[in-house]
Amino acid sequence: MIDPAELVSSYGSPLYVYQLDALTNAAAQLRSALPDPATLFYSLKANPHPEVVAELASTGCRAEVSSTGELMIALQAGCPAQECLYTGPGKTTGELRTAMSLGVTLFSAESLRDLSRISDTAEALGTIVRCLLRINGGGGAGQGAIRMTNRSSQFGFDLDDVHLWAGQAMKTPHVAVVGLHFFPMSNARSERDLVSSFLESIATAARLRDVHGVPVRVLDLGGGFAAPYAKPGPLPEYPTLRSELTAALDHHFPEYAEGTMELAFESGRHLSGRAGTLHASVTEVKQSKGSSYGVLDTGINHLGGMSGLRRLMPIEARPETADDRPKERLTLVGPLCAPSDVLGADLEIATPNAGDILRIPNVGAYGLTASLLAFLGRECPAELAIRGDQVISASRLLVVREPLSARSISDAQHRSA
Ligand SMILES: *Cc1c(COP(=O)(O)O)cnc(C)c1O
Repeated sequence: MIDPAELVSSYGSPLYVYQLDALTNAAAQLRSALPDPATLFYSLKANPHPEVVAELASTGCRAEVSSTGELMIALQAGCPAQECLYTGPGKTTGELRTAMSLGVTLFSAESLRDLSRISDTAEALGTIVRCLLRINGGGGAGQGAIRMTNRSSQFGFDLDDVHLWAGQAMKTPHVAVVGLHFFPMSNARSERDLVSSFLESIATAARLRDVHGVPVRVLDLGGGFAAPYAKPGPLPEYPTLRSELTAALDHHFPEYAEGTMELAFESGRHLSGRAGTLHASVTEVKQSKGSSYGVLDTGINHLGGMSGLRRLMPIEARPETADDRPKERLTLVGPLCAPSDVLGADLEIATPNAGDILRIPNVGAYGLTASLLAFLGRECPAELAIRGDQVISASRLLVVREPLSARSISDAQHRSA
């Protein structure tokens, strides 16, 4: 173990550190919980750091990407283009063309419009691509296998009006509909919730195949695998998942056991969450009207920014405090001139002193790139990738302004048209 104080004195504070071994361990642990064989996609959205992606790719994870930027990182990290899954609502012709030109052949389609744009782009490039139809419904809440209440969403094809889209989807030219994509939940609260959501998706997939003739040669059940966020704790384990899902697949999809159907899962946070730690320094501890505030040199510009926008679970960072000073109530805030810059409210922790370095654990997913990087113009922290006690890479993300001419602006608009 490298001494964090040494790292901070070499690379500055705040500092993100990613332990590559933790990624390998998380991937191995998750694989052992899944039916075998299964494809495991790493969702770059959780943490697109090149070393993180490369490490997970080296353990056999494939890349689930949702933008040109994520795709470029995946390719540079050694993920073959033909093994990437390209997902997301609102894929533009420009990004589809880029993805197909770079060799991506598997897309998740979110609507008939999305599918026809994929089709047109494939035609223009003289190719045929494979598509999974993303289904809104078939997992999460509800008792029945198919009659469940699904929330209105920008994601996927609504299950309720399958008769309106299934036939047309399968007739789309230049596209081979090869299967289904579900992603009904994130960060499942319990193994029970996770398993029942998967079981519902499996039953829904079988129903779509049997009643509507949708081919299911690839069944991507998505994820929902949980991880602690910004507080100490282990990864949850899923001891019953494999046997429950295998039994359901035996029942609904005997072709899975025969090896003619591919089963896939996706995870961001469960794979990368445990690997990251944010080291931050205490600038000052101050009192106001009977409450204590620990002011840090990092805030929602580097961690939990999306939660400030209510786009992520509320951030309640709980640093690991190693010493046995008496615990007091303290609110941890960042340096931004914004009252929402709170990393943890009213925490019971050993009160730090100005100059102390705090370790915020389990921030390898939805850390830096899920934050408000450009808000208030502070530079990004250095990010280190570490294997054992070796620093493998040290870098800093930059937010830079690029001058544009009218010509490059119209090119950009053309690209995204
Ligand atoms: C966000 C996302 C994931 C990853 O979610 P986690 O909760 O980080 O595992 C996987 N698949 C899709 C389609 C997503 O949008």
